[in-house]
Amino acid sequence: MDKLNFKDFQLSNTILESLQKLGYNSPSEVQEKVIPLILKNKDIIVKSQTGSGKTAAFAIPICEKIEIEEKNPQALVLTPTRELALQIKEDFSYIGRLKKINCTAVFGKEPISLQIKKLKQRVHVVTGTPGRILDHIERNTLVLEKIKYLVIDEADEMLSRGFMEQVESVIGSLPKNRTTLLFSATIPDEILKLCNVYMENPLNIEVQCESSVKDRITQMYYKIEAPYKFSLLNKIIYTERPDSSMIFCRTKKNVDDLVLQMKARKYSCEALHGGMLQNERIDKIESFKRGEFTFLICTDIAARGIDVENITHIINYDIPMERENYIHRIGRTGRFTSNGTAITFVTPKEYLYLKKIEEYFHITIKEGSIPSLEEVETGKKLFYEKLKSAPKRKEDKSTKFNRDITKIYISAGKRKKIRPRDVAGTISSIPGVNPEDIGIIDIKDNFSYVDILFGKAEMVLEGLQHKTIKGKTIRAEKAQK
Ligand code: AMP
Repeated sequence: MDKLNFKDFQLSNTILESLQKLGYNSPSEVQEKVIPLILKNKDIIVKSQTGSGKTAAFAIPICEKIEIEEKNPQALVLTPTRELALQIKEDFSYIGRLKKINCTAVFGKEPISLQIKKLKQRVHVVTGTPGRILDHIERNTLVLEKIKYLVIDEADEMLSRGFMEQVESVIGSLPKNRTTLLFSATIPDEILKLCNVYMENPLNIEVQCESSVKDRITQMYYKIEAPYKFSLLNKIIYTERPDSSMIFCRTKKNVDDLVLQMKARKYSCEALHGGMLQNERIDKIESFKRGEFTFLICTDIAARGIDVENITHIINYDIPMERENYIHRIGRTGRFTSNGTAITFVTPKEYLYLKKIEEYFHITIKEGSIPSLEEVETGKKLFYEKLKSAPKRKEDKSTKFNRDITKIYISAGKRKKIRPRDVAGTISSIPGVNPEDIGIIDIKDNFSYVDILFGKAEMVLEGLQHKTIKGKTIRAEKAQK
């Protein structure tokens, strides 16, 4: 059978164009199976792994179905972690950007007042962790009456974190006339029970890509006593010379200790763990995505939901204690269709854990041979030569997407009684600029941001020099952020 094309799903042009900008040329297996069903509003249970393109599998049809004029949220996505909530929000924002879909993420540890403000605006899609979503529902700050789609993502993880009760409370508050979509890597009985209660004749979809993820990732382990781990890590770095790598440790302290040792050797590395402030964590992830440093040393909080392109190596400096985390960790590489290497350090005492991981996932992880002195010496030279060349900046989704989208700043906002339609009116009155060239308009108290599409920012900035908005003089320039 010929490979399907996104056009075959009869999606609207704004969505097709966004997919093209994102470089999504043809649908993945899960997308092929799931998109047509969601477009027909069928309830589905999808067994699939992260890395299969499952986020877009639900985000594409939901974006297609969103009614842009509706003020209240139409889709709710529940996720087990903040990182995943943000990742999914980002995916929705890109896929829905040209259609002007507004998506917001809400999660614990971020001031609730900030989220309440965001939820007061026109928001089409809300992603978030169950606890904080429930909090907003109880405060009446999240209006649910127009919700047509509920997505429960990584349901198995939700279950193992003890979030199921909260998930059920959220479901109980939603309109009955909705489509429910559940995604999970495994479907334990408790989840099936939930599906039977809250879903209508759900269809079961299974995606076989688990094996292809395994095929794309070369996995090996090294038996090593704890005190020699750092020395082995150096050898591997020299011989493998990763372009971009995540190194997983068991605890925050292990992360901090390893970062100190690696910085002393001048490796380009940063830490990421739960002891850091939320903002700091997000900044680190963003800068890692842009390729600003090579090694992200982290705990398992980074094992899920972080979607960074072209991670070449995952190194389990400490073997994961929970076997599920093994697949989540190594799934950060070999994303979609790229290849990757996953290396696990195992102390003799931990050998049993390795065997359990192999048994659980029906895989055989081969033992790596420790590089010889000669290999290390040659590798070291090549490693330092590579360092001399400028670091390779990664073109992440935002760079790809933003090539012809520019955010502009306008020095007037709510306090001057400016509304989105005033801004849109003024901008589209500039000769050569059409309403379709205006993307998301974000009105703050004292200023506003507007996305200008199709490379027309210069034309708009020039035009605004001679314009007022609602009779008020304004200053407009390229936004700094
Ligand atoms: P996910 O399984 O949702 O975590 O997605 C894995 C990765 O695949 C993400 O980086 C997506 O941006 C990317 N992706 C999803 N769908 C496609 C597609 N059709 N073509 C190319 N990349 C895709």
